Amino acid sequence: MDNGNLSSIRLLDALRTAVGDGQLKVYYQPRVDIRTGDVVGAEALLRWSHPTLGSISPAAFIPIAEETGLILPIGEWTLRQACAQAAAWRTAGFDRLVVSVNLSPRQFAQGDVVDTVWSILRETELPPQQLELEITESITMDVESAIATLNRLKRLGVRISVDDFGTGYSSLSYLKRFPLHTLKIDKTFIRECTKDENDATIVRTIIAMAHNLNLRVVAEGVETKEQLVFLQRHLCDEAQGFLFQRPVPPEELVEQLEELPAIVTKLGVGAAFTE
Ligand code: C2E
Ligand code: MG
Ligand code: MG
Ligand code: MG
Repeated sequence: MDNGNLSSIRLLDALRTAVGDGQLKVYYQPRVDIRTGDVVGAEALLRWSHPTLGSISPAAFIPIAEETGLILPIGEWTLRQACAQAAAWRTAGFDRLVVSVNLSPRQFAQGDVVDTVWSILRETELPPQQLELEITESITMDVESAIATLNRLKRLGVRISVDDFGTGYSSLSYLKRFPLHTLKIDKTFIRECTKDENDATIVRTIIAMAHNLNLRVVAEGVETKEQLVFLQRHLCDEAQGFLFQRPVPPEELVEQLEELPAIVTKLGVGAAFTE
């Protein structure tokens, strides 16, 4: 169905009942270490399946949730689900998987965000090192308070990544001041990186800059083998994308954990490092 035709009011109305009705689900997309082929983590991504409207994309409902503040209960629910899932994987023996969860600017600006994260970690008994929070450059609207919040989150032991890196308007100086762990290169740069010289330069430059700042770097939206080889050649650390796996329900991710290294090997990952 064409979500574009739905009025936001109708969508908002439907969204209010979605959590309580069990219409929201958290899917997971593997993050692959492109040097070894290992799945090192998974990003939690919301999926909404409405009984009559069908499936509605996060691109359609997250902005409405953000505008209205509904993102607060929804975001907290998602964080709890993802941490509980990572704790369950841990119990099942996958004890190094890092789950990454998108934190919206509104959630980040909530005065109690650090307490919320802390109590969810305690409740789910997930070690903080196994949680990564994805923020966007837009949180830099109020730099000083953002730094204070990030430092408190860092002290909890969770990792922080900057999502969609390169698409925001923030100054590069915050990279130095924020206690970050990871940069995620936005998929719009990856899409043409093997065809467009400018995109190639941007991707190479972000990787080099991240490494010089001691940050880990992840490429988002990797769809082709050529893109993967490009990223390996330029020493990107991790990749995420349809080439490996679409976001899937948690049960399917576990199947993938066992199958992906073989799939990645077939794609030629690792070959770049043994040649
Ligand atoms: P994002 O955080 O940048 O997530 C990555 C998006 O790229 C996901 O879209 C994912 O399905 C998509 N993707 C992954 N691999 C590929 C690929 O190879 N090619 C292409 N074209 N796309 C790929 P999705 O799931 O539709 O989510 C869209 C955005 O909605 C997310 O972008 C994120 O900003 C937001 N979102 C999703 N779940 C949550 C959530 O729980 N909380 C918040 N605050 N935002 C969320
Ligand atoms: Mg993300
Ligand atoms: Mg995001
Ligand atoms: Mg992104």
